[in-house]
Amino acid sequence: MAVPYLEKLNPEQRRAVEHGITGAHPSGPLLVIAGAGSGKTNTLAHRVAHLLVHGADPHRILLMTFSRRAAADLGRRAERICAQVLGEHAGIMAAGLPWAGTFHSIGARLLREYAGQIGIQPDFSIHDREDAADLMNLVRHELGFSKTESRFPTKATCLEIYSRAVNSGEALADVLRDVFPWCTRWETELRALFAAYVEAKQAQSVLDYDDLLLYWAQMQADPGIAEHVGSRFDHVLVDEYQDTNRLQATILLTMKPSGRGLTVVGDDAQSIYAFRAATVRNILDFPAAFDPPADVVTLDRNYRSTQPLLEAANAVIGLAKERFTKTLWTDRQSAQRPELVTVRDEMEQARFVATRVLENREMGATLKQQAVLFRTASHSAMLEVELTRRRIPFVKFGGLKFLDSAHVKDLLALLRFAQNPRDVVAGFRVMLLVPGAGPSTARRVLDGMADQPRPIHALANMPVPPRLGEEWRRLVEVMTELHGGKAGWPAEIDLARRWYEPILERVHEDAPTRLADLLQLEQIAAGYPSRERFLTELTLDPPDATSDQSGVPHLDEDYLILSTIHSAKGQEWRSVYLLNAVDGCMPSDLGTGCEADIEEERRLLYVAMTRAKDSLHLVLPQRFFTHSQRAQGDRHVYASRTRFIPREILDHFEFVSWPGAAAAAAAAGLRSGMRVDVAAQMRGMWR
Ligand code: ATP
Ligand code: MG
Repeated sequence: MAVPYLEKLNPEQRRAVEHGITGAHPSGPLLVIAGAGSGKTNTLAHRVAHLLVHGADPHRILLMTFSRRAAADLGRRAERICAQVLGEHAGIMAAGLPWAGTFHSIGARLLREYAGQIGIQPDFSIHDREDAADLMNLVRHELGFSKTESRFPTKATCLEIYSRAVNSGEALADVLRDVFPWCTRWETELRALFAAYVEAKQAQSVLDYDDLLLYWAQMQADPGIAEHVGSRFDHVLVDEYQDTNRLQATILLTMKPSGRGLTVVGDDAQSIYAFRAATVRNILDFPAAFDPPADVVTLDRNYRSTQPLLEAANAVIGLAKERFTKTLWTDRQSAQRPELVTVRDEMEQARFVATRVLENREMGATLKQQAVLFRTASHSAMLEVELTRRRIPFVKFGGLKFLDSAHVKDLLALLRFAQNPRDVVAGFRVMLLVPGAGPSTARRVLDGMADQPRPIHALANMPVPPRLGEEWRRLVEVMTELHGGKAGWPAEIDLARRWYEPILERVHEDAPTRLADLLQLEQIAAGYPSRERFLTELTLDPPDATSDQSGVPHLDEDYLILSTIHSAKGQEWRSVYLLNAVDGCMPSDLGTGCEADIEEERRLLYVAMTRAKDSLHLVLPQRFFTHSQRAQGDRHVYASRTRFIPREILDHFEFVSWPGAAAAAAAAGLRSGMRVDVAAQMRGMWR
């Protein structure tokens, strides 16, 4: 069979693609560990295609990566490569790759399938971080911790500690000592809180994000089940393996103890999720986890970026305390070094980016080929205003989600409560929507429903204050109907919306806009086969926010990408703009300031820089309020360039000052009598 796609690969990539399929290599475990833009993901896509071309059953391929978008993209790439060889009528990819997704979404599917064997309800609901924090808060109040001592950790901190302990498998005392030292005095209370939290989740039949991995790993601790799950897949492939945690590694190793059919791909220099208990040890220890050890392929040619961009990125990561041995090379020559652009403040930063983006578009780069990256979702706020003012459409990844708006959450809570009437967080939200109903009524009704075998029937018979009368009756009616599922999917979402509409109109002045969102939600819902799949996938991987607030990008339009660096992982654009390349932001002043945190921030900058193909602009607002300064209400503070670009590597960058020094001084609108030594500040920037 002619395999034209193999010829485009370099010898190492080809070795990884053919490993165990064609050629002389055995089919043991395989690790591809290589730098940014060296074609790891591309190689993985080719490997999947190669497997399919050689007769692998797409239903028996498990492909996991960190986001649904990335998983879908990998599947599509593999499909295109396949089509080159097999032509239109091959038909093997008719259903796509049914088992491509994130660890969490695959976990949710398997747990529903095996629910009967492991003592959980198959129709469990899934709590996102916010729901989980709400439940944690409820439990916290019930135990009285928040009352006795006002400095007890917040619900968000409690959840972080819990999550960290669960995902790392470390003892609570160790987690507190190492990561949350200011909370150590609460160890006993936290232990009691977490025990009660786990009980509450089980009583309500809800799983949070962490549970999806925890229960999955626990389920596979049974060798019989592990074998059963493992035998369903001939090939298990994982991208971005450096950002997996201990549980994820355990899941893979128990599923494929011999490593046969197991392929993992990643870059230790890009590990940026240690703050969520990901451990780079997973990728480093992978080869030795098997006997004989895994085959290791390294790639050192970068196909993404021009030479000057790559050299600058190499210089930044070259200063890391930990040495990463892979130095990348490229033959993409260019004279353009990455720019360090000094601007007066965040407003000017927004203007600079908007202006450059439009100039670039004039020169032939579409908006979609350009991206603006930032450390924290809130950092793009000023830019969003500027883009809207100039009518530049954008889509924001990893920021505030469509689903975070109150009205969308309300409607989803209704569906969730119908799906699982024991879900107290959803139930609470729904009951508080009923005009006149307050927390104590909601609490009493939910308590009353809790131990009933058929909670929805109990809902109908629960005594409530007479003033709720008709409104309450309408709630019971719609819940009963939704729970019964007679309307069918997706018609029932229409039912839910019609119940909710009058409430929305009463509460919100901008009801028409919000209603449009709900109709949009209905359209999204129509794309899912069932309520359960809809709720699961939406919770695990929500759609991104767009400039027109309608929630879903119009894929045929051109739009600029705004993304946190974390969400930009694995992607590439012709032009990349990085906001706030200043100390206090990179590294962020929110971390504990310990060396490991600082090193993670350095890798984050490396990830951001290596997203660019042709041009890269790091923007440095001279006045930047770091988080702690904002909190303290400080006035302007002169920011300095990120410490990750010290003087000794400055040669790799081009200095630009925008809009130029004279114009900047005029624009500053200095009142007479005010004096600012701009020259001294400019020198300070490069010290
Ligand atoms: P990251 O570490 O950022 O995830 P990666 O190693 O996964 O990067 P890819 O995204 O797979 O890299 O590839 C980077 C770019 O290089 C893509 O545009 C890809 O199409 C291109 N590329 C990869 N391999 C080759 C090749 N052999 N010939 C030409 N282009 C290639
Ligand atoms: Mg990749």
